Formats: sequence, C-alpha cells, structure tokens
Amino acid sequence: MKINFEKYSSIKIGGEAEVVEIRDRSFEPRGFFVIGAACNLLVSPNPPPLAILSREFDYLRYDGELLVVGGACKSGKIVSLCRSRDLGGMEFLRGLPGSLGGLIAMNAGLKGREIFDRLKWADFGFGRVLADEIARGYRFAKLPGVVFEAAFELDRGYDRGLEAEFDAVRSRHPKEPSAGSCFKNPPNGFAGRLIEAAGLKGFAIGGAAFSEIHANFLVNKGGATFDDAISLIELARERVLSEFGITLELEIKVL
Ligand SMILES: Cc1cc2nc3c(=O)[nH]c(=O)nc-3n(C[C@H](O)[C@H](O)[C@H](O)COP(=O)(O)OP(=O)(O)OC[C@H]3O[C@@H](n4cnc5c(N)ncnc54)[C@H](O)[C@@H]3O)c2cc1C
Repeated sequence: MKINFEKYSSIKIGGEAEVVEIRDRSFEPRGFFVIGAACNLLVSPNPPPLAILSREFDYLRYDGELLVVGGACKSGKIVSLCRSRDLGGMEFLRGLPGSLGGLIAMNAGLKGREIFDRLKWADFGFGRVLADEIARGYRFAKLPGVVFEAAFELDRGYDRGLEAEFDAVRSRHPKEPSAGSCFKNPPNGFAGRLIEAAGLKGFAIGGAAFSEIHANFLVNKGGATFDDAISLIELARERVLSEFGITLELEIKVL
C-alpha cells in the first residue's frame, strides 16, 4: 500500500512511500522500519523500506482481569474503553496520540506515568515476553521485534481528576501539527528551556518552527518540508551544544 506522509503523519511532512502491510505474526521485520500512527516520526522523501500492522491488529478486549490490545489499536480507543468500563491506570493516554506498538516502543508517557507501568506482557510473534524482561527507560524500550499484541493490568476506577490534570497539560501545548516533543529532556534539565535560552523559541525556517508556546515542539506552520525541519533540528543542536555544552538527543525518529 502507499502512504502519503504529508497526510498520515502528525507533523504533516513527507512524501508518498510504499509501505508493506503486516497481516500475520510470522512477518520477518529484518530490513524494515515498522511504523505505527506516525505521531513521533519525521519522514524524508526517501525513507527506508517501511512496514505497518494491518487492521486485523486493531482490537481490544477486557476479560475481567487483563486488558488485551492489538498492536495497531490507537490510544484514543484504549482510553475510551477504560473510561466506559471504569478502569484506572491509562488516563495519561488521553491526548497522547499513537498506536499500541508505537506507545510501547517509545515507552510513551506523561508526568511520571508511562505505558510500561501497567504492561504485563507483549507478544512479538515468536511468543509472549513479560514486561519485566524488556529493558526500557525514558522514551525508549529495547524490543525484540514487532509488537503484535500486549496485555495490561489495570485498577478498578477510572480517575477523572487525573484526566483533568492531563487535559490541562495538553491545553498548554501548541495546536499546529507536530510530532510531540522534538528532543528528549537531558538529565536534570528541559530541552524546551535550552532551546529558548539559545534564542530559538518561535524561530522558523521555511514552514517549520520551534513553537512560541512550547519551544521543544517543532511545529509545521504550513507547507514545512523535511529539509526545513532538519535544518531547525541541526541549528538547535549546534547552538545548545556550543552555548551550554549539552548534546540534545532526538525524541522523534527521523526516517
Ligand atoms: C501532539 C502530540 C503530543 C504528544 N505527546 C506525547 C507525550 O505526552 N508523551 C509521549 O511519550 N509522547 C508524546 N507524543 C509522541 C507520540 O505520541 C508517541 O511517541 C507515540 O508513542 C507514537 O506512537 P505511534 O504509533 O505514532 O508510533 P510511530 O511514530 O509510528 O513510531 C514510533 C516508534 O515506534 C516504533 N513502532 C511503531 N509500531 C510498532 C510496533 N507495532 N512494534 C514495534 N515497534 C513499533 C517505530 O518503529 C518507531 O521507532 C506526542 C505526539 C504528538 C503529535
């Protein structure tokens, strides 16, 4: 199938590329970059070979003990089910876009909560691996393959207070297309503050800019190209390194 990343990706950058659909768990991912909902990607006009889980992996069910979710299921559906079944632990996924596979690969989270907190096991095709056996850290997980399915242990009681807290955080984020945080926060610091201190808050190259609202969001103000975004990223890394001696590590994946 063909995917137009200018439409599909959350940052609305990229051209059209051929993407192989993964229809069963015997798929051999070697040589492919597996994408999810492309909410954390910056895709060039010439990406590597790409693959994506087919719709067969877009499901979720709660069996009274575990929430079992297919790798292609979107975060919004997970939160909706938790809300309607009064289950707690996944409230932070509200407004955090992505598919289950991408959420686990990035160990996505907000305000001290992350997807691995409730993960029990993930199925990589060759079998299930317990969450405790998967190395992970801040916005990173060392996965042994493609996430086809995963199970979560949740609490009774969806927390609407937490939901309101997370909504408040989201309301302070830019509204233009982005891929979320551009850089990871360095130890004991904030990437956004460093970008701002380097004089780049609101700075634009072509259609891409570091948001005036939150400097660590690289936003598409309209018609941004891959080259615009990459030039901004390089500029920020150079300036922050030369002015503060800190190397910013990308959170978004550049393909
Ligand atoms: C407005 C906005 C707000 C955001 N806020 C947050 C936030 O608060 N916290 C946060 O952590 N992130 C945030 N993000 C980033 C993004 O939502 C997360 O990184 C999310 O986990 C990406 O999921 P995805 O399905 O889009 O993955 P993609 O962007 O498609 O891919 C990301 C990574 O996941 C891997 N991957 C995808 N599917 C699979 C699979 N099935 N098996 C194995 N690996 C796979 C890819 O290879 C890639 O390495 C935000 C993004 C936006 C646009």
